[in-house]
Amino acid sequence: MTNPELRAAVRALCARYPETYWQQLDAERAYPESFVGELTRAGYLAALIPAEYGGAGLSMADACSILEEINRSGANAAACHAQMYTMGTLLRHGSEAQKRAWLPLIAAGNVRLQAFAVTEPTAGSDTSRITTFAERNGDRYIVRGQKIFISRVQHSDLMVLLARTTRPEQVPKRTDGLSVFLVDLRTAGERVRVRPIDTMVNHETSEVFFDDLEVPAENLIGEEGKGFRYILSGMNAERILLASESVGDALYFIERASKYATERVVFDRPIGMNQGVQFPLARAYVSTRAAAALRDTAATLYDEDRPCGAEANMCKLAASEAAWEAANAAMNTFGGYGLACEYGLERKFREARLYLVAPVANNLVLSYVGEHVLGMPRSF
Ligand SMILES: Cc1cc2nc3c(=O)[nH]c(=O)nc-3n(C[C@H](O)[C@H](O)[C@H](O)COP(=O)(O)OP(=O)(O)OC[C@H]3O[C@@H](n4cnc5c(N)ncnc54)[C@H](O)[C@@H]3O)c2cc1C
Repeated sequence: MTNPELRAAVRALCARYPETYWQQLDAERAYPESFVGELTRAGYLAALIPAEYGGAGLSMADACSILEEINRSGANAAACHAQMYTMGTLLRHGSEAQKRAWLPLIAAGNVRLQAFAVTEPTAGSDTSRITTFAERNGDRYIVRGQKIFISRVQHSDLMVLLARTTRPEQVPKRTDGLSVFLVDLRTAGERVRVRPIDTMVNHETSEVFFDDLEVPAENLIGEEGKGFRYILSGMNAERILLASESVGDALYFIERASKYATERVVFDRPIGMNQGVQFPLARAYVSTRAAAALRDTAATLYDEDRPCGAEANMCKLAASEAAWEAANAAMNTFGGYGLACEYGLERKFREARLYLVAPVANNLVLSYVGEHVLGMPRSF
């Protein structure tokens, strides 16, 4: 399938889920089971799993197109996007036995791996400060600690967990001594407690408490103590993919608002004739195209297995800001109707806001660019 055919097929699937579907879920704070089920059966969520493990073996560029088209349609890929990339930690750093055991099940959608547990309340953006500890005890690790804002945990069978395995004072750098585990949530019982967090969006996210959770040692991914590096390498994929959702969000706003500005007549002329209405949309479109070009560069580098940390970070910032610019321009274009729930705009407005802070706050992106791209002094 060519990329335009892939985009058209995703658009056709999304067209079966109109605004009323998303509005009802939003009102009920419910999970889009049928939408996610259809995406899974179509193989889109297994886009990045190589064919030898049962996936579609598509490129990052194609995976970006899938998420962009989903969000451009008015849908919200956040309910399931992590099924696409969380497995990357396993794919890149797991043993052959782990990959053979899990990837085919994930690719088929029989097992959901869409919970990724890094953030902690006291560490915030400084991941090196996490305190959740996994202590080796024979053939298992005993995990104690707490995570926050862990998305989709109630709709996931497996979780990729970052925990400390050596105390910070016993390692040369704070980023050493962290390890990654695959946690089977189906067998965790009361050792994993989940407290859902109400947010301004229909995005299932929770506080998660680990009370002496036993994780078999065979579920350690890669080498003990090297987890920070593994998580960072997975974050590039996450940033490029989520930037694509923001590009999709931006196009959603711009396309709807341009149409509305052309049709809505006030003072005997379409409001889009007024440059005060037209220019913000045109400017947001330029920002969106620039962000998409940066995203394309990042995806190409990723597909060529070349370093892409700078481009992945920069496209995440550019796309999230373009989406926010487009969201505000669209809300202004719709006037009072922008606030009326039936138009869908206010729902997307809330959803687009998330990407300014997650999966990484944009200030942290700027700090990365300042230090690692421009060579300025480290600020923290
Ligand atoms: C809906 C939702 C879903 C999420 N899903 C997940 C998930 O599935 N898994 C997961 O692990 N995490 C998840 N997160 C967490 C998310 O990644 C964090 O919220 C984000 O990384 C920011 O961390 P924080 O909220 O602790 O902010 P903080 O680190 O407390 O930062 C607060 C503000 O201060 C700024 N700031 C902090 N330090 C600096 C500095 N040195 N210089 C300049 N500015 C600074 C930040 O930019 C930010 O604006 C989710 C969050 C939300 C809201």
